[in-house]
Amino acid sequence: MNNAIIDFPLPANEPVKACLEGSPERIALDEELERQYNTVVEIPAVIGGKEFFTGNTAEVTCPTEHGHVLARYHMVGEKEVKMAIEAAMDARKTWSRTPWTTRAAINLKCAELLSTTWRARVNAATMLGQGKNIYQAEIDSAAETCDFFRYNVSFASRIYAMQPKDAKNCIDHNEFRPLEGFVLAVTPFNFTSIASNLCMSPVLMGNVALWKPSRTALLSNWYIMQMYKDAGLPDGVVNFLPGSGELIGKICTESHYFAGLHFTGSTATFNSLWASATRNLANYVSYPRIVGETGGKDFIFVHPSADAPAVAHAAFTGAFEYQGQKCSAASRMYIPRSMWPEVLDRMKKMASEVKMGGVRDHDNYINAVIDGASFDRISARIDAARASSVARIVMGGNYDKSVGWFVEPTVIETADPKYSTMVEEIFGPVLTVYPYEDAEWEETVKLCDETSPYGLTGSVFAKDRLACEKISDMLCYAAGNFYINDRPTGAVVGCQPFGGARASGTDDKAGGPFNLFRWVCPRSIKETLVPPTDIFAAYPYIKR
Ligand code: NAD
Repeated sequence: MNNAIIDFPLPANEPVKACLEGSPERIALDEELERQYNTVVEIPAVIGGKEFFTGNTAEVTCPTEHGHVLARYHMVGEKEVKMAIEAAMDARKTWSRTPWTTRAAINLKCAELLSTTWRARVNAATMLGQGKNIYQAEIDSAAETCDFFRYNVSFASRIYAMQPKDAKNCIDHNEFRPLEGFVLAVTPFNFTSIASNLCMSPVLMGNVALWKPSRTALLSNWYIMQMYKDAGLPDGVVNFLPGSGELIGKICTESHYFAGLHFTGSTATFNSLWASATRNLANYVSYPRIVGETGGKDFIFVHPSADAPAVAHAAFTGAFEYQGQKCSAASRMYIPRSMWPEVLDRMKKMASEVKMGGVRDHDNYINAVIDGASFDRISARIDAARASSVARIVMGGNYDKSVGWFVEPTVIETADPKYSTMVEEIFGPVLTVYPYEDAEWEETVKLCDETSPYGLTGSVFAKDRLACEKISDMLCYAAGNFYINDRPTGAVVGCQPFGGARASGTDDKAGGPFNLFRWVCPRSIKETLVPPTDIFAAYPYIKR
């Protein structure tokens, strides 16, 4: 009998473990790194709880050592995707009517498992498969993933508590129905936490999901999928489909039961999925919920009153941690000409102090970019800057793919504020800087606002607080996550709900209640306690 009204207050954020040498967490992590490095995992599709080894395989390799195979994954074809839709719709019959507190319990159990027994496994897989160092894995695959599970439960409890007032002799209430179909979760390579959250936030609200993981995040995503089962998630609620995004996207958006898309990735991919949904609109049970967080061209705007050491730290860490492969990574900076030499010197000093290399050597701060396509794209941008008459490489600029996909932290300085790398997303460790005349900061803020189609993150550095206010106002639509005297990256669940508008997505803010709201279609119910019988009761002025 489930009749308790359970309070789920806002949780504390999962602490990030220090992983100092000799600590229990470090010993567990190193053991897992060795085990996973020396194992080749067979990754199946999971449909209705059953594993499918299709025989159509491809390999997962280490970005820092691309000749080293970590796993082989089995790709789904049309038949398996259709089976997954059926399995999801079948599971939906029970899951959509399962008490939400039971769904919450499974989410909280996931957080508990990930915080403890699954932590080293998922962190090690994220490090090896996605090229992250310990800290970057800890903040993503352990801490942020746990935070999503726990905060979403608390946010959901607030949504379910949003009830109307009662009219006289009536009981009114809102019922938050899950969507009438399945949700397709198409997930990116760069955050294990995002991959998990894109499935589990709709699932918490009573939906069923088809999960299309990124081929370059499959190792960690496969462990996450197994962890869901360990936490008691029923079969068929999440169906795991390695394979071609194009094929899976096409079949899902053609389905009558396509009810939602939860996407994070590039703007181009999101646009193609949205277009496909639009083409099939007449075929759906309901208008689908389309939620996407996409690309960015995130900026740091430095006012002449800013503190140079703080700017240098923000620029270096904001642009180069995880090799610049965060959607929020700083990738363009506007800086007063007078301050630039000092900031650049400080950044060069930081670059000289950090090491680049594999993820099993924990002294490496910088690792490799995700794959060959990414390496080629980034190195081509560096070569183009080297050959340009309006840009020059002032830091880094070397790359080497002999062992892994290594690109040095690179700074391009440009005299053209609309130079291509000031406008287009590169998604790698490349920061482009436009030094401006100190007196022209207001004109330059306007440039910053108008330069790129994106609107994801940005920050302003200034000691002059009124200038901060003015710049914040002028850049009102330039970023969905805006930072004052901080780098434009590092959003924390529960503190800075994340997402942007313009070409950066639908701004539904993962890590906040707004996102969860997209996965329900509310029904308003009125119950009349004293049904009227006199048709003239509301018309007292009519003479009878
Ligand atoms: P991507 O668009 O290449 O891939 C994302 C997912 O879409 C993957 O699972 C991929 O297999 C799938 N996919 C690719 N082509 C498809 C198609 N035609 N149809 C259906 N699915 C398809 O992006 P990525 O390289 O994994 O991630 C990097 C991008 O993600 C960057 O643009 C980055 O800014 C963005 N990102 C944004 C946020 C955010 O919150 N705004 C967060 C993380 C990443």
